[in-house]
Amino acid sequence: MNEAAKPTVLYTREQIQATVKRLAGEITCDYAGKKPLVIGILKGSFIFMADLVRELDFPLEIEFVRVSSYGRARQSSGKITVVQGVRTAVKGRHVLVIEDIIDSGLSLRFVLDSLRRKKPASIKVCCLLDKPARRAVPVPVNYTGFEAPDRFLVGYGLDWGEQYRNLPDICYIEDKP
Ligand code: 5GP
Ligand code: MG
Repeated sequence: MNEAAKPTVLYTREQIQATVKRLAGEITCDYAGKKPLVIGILKGSFIFMADLVRELDFPLEIEFVRVSSYGRARQSSGKITVVQGVRTAVKGRHVLVIEDIIDSGLSLRFVLDSLRRKKPASIKVCCLLDKPARRAVPVPVNYTGFEAPDRFLVGYGLDWGEQYRNLPDICYIEDKP
């Protein structure tokens, strides 16, 4: 861990809360009455998922998958591994995948490919943060919180070397103080 690294706020907790409410409104319009299977991608989405589902006032089920691609580096290794897969039936379900941030798109594509093989009735993606400038492979995103700049972000679930997940705001890390 670089001791000189200093997080600077990019999106405040108030901005995040307003964005989560806006996303929940859009999701409610599309999913109320469908009892979706909401699948969070761990670990980064855990806080976003917790805040988002508490704004969804209709029946749904929660699942998690855990994939790993970064290790301790800031760049995607491109090698994605499933650490924990879905443990409930996906066939015929309306699936909503919750992702913290989309960078290259490789992790999400990997997760979507493996979920599609399980034959869901439908599959959509909600991400809190999207860095479109970094996209290496196209991925469909149905609900986007923020279009983020090409910076390494931490906080609100996002880590750097497992640190900073507990910051209430979304921050970027200054390379040099
Ligand atoms: P991708 O496969 O799209 O390159 O990266 C997806 C995953 O890498 C995200 O779900 C997240 O876990 C991690 N990631 C991508 N960009 C960032 C970032 O700016 N900050 C942090 N902390 N993680 C990121
Ligand atoms: Mg993630």
